[in-house]
Amino acid sequence: MSAKTVKSGILVEDVAAHELGHVLNLYDARSEGSSELSVESKATFERIRDCLTKQRKKEPDPFYIGEDFADLIAAKVSISKSNPFCSYFPSQIFTEGSNTFLNSPNLAPSLQNFDPDDDHSSIFFRLLHHQWIKKGEHSQACQKLIKLDGSSVVFRDCFEQ
Ligand SMILES: [Zn+2]
Repeated sequence: MSAKTVKSGILVEDVAAHELGHVLNLYDARSEGSSELSVESKATFERIRDCLTKQRKKEPDPFYIGEDFADLIAAKVSISKSNPFCSYFPSQIFTEGSNTFLNSPNLAPSLQNFDPDDDHSSIFFRLLHHQWIKKGEHSQACQKLIKLDGSSVVFRDCFEQ
C-alpha cells in the first residue's frame, strides 16, 4: 500500500482485502507447498483461474490472473458499499474531459491496460469486475462502454461458478 493509494481515498480495508487475495493466491494449486492442499481445494483454484482467464474471450490471457484473483477475493470480503475503483479516476475528468486521458491513458474507460509491463487489469476493467461481483449486473451506460471497447470481455463471479 503506497502513500499515493492512501491519498487517493481508497479505503485501507479495500487494499487490505486485495492483499489478502494475493496471500491466498500463494497457496494455489501451482505453488510450492500445494501438496498440502486437498484435491478439492486444488480443483477450486484451477476452476477459478480458468474462469478468470476466460473473462477475456478474445484473448484469454493468464497474465492478469494474480491481480484479478486478488480483486475477486477483495470484492467478496469487502463490506464497503462503494466501488473502490471509482476513487482512481481524477476529478479533472469532470472538468477537462477526454484531455485527461492523454496524460493518463490507463484511466480511460478502456478494458485494455496500455502498459504491457503492468499485470493489473485496467482501472475500468477492475471497476466493472468489482461491480459485477458485488451486484451481478452493470448499468446500461457501462454495458454500452463495454460493447464500444470491443474487447469481448464477459465478467463473471468466478468464486460462485
Ligand atoms: Zn495486487
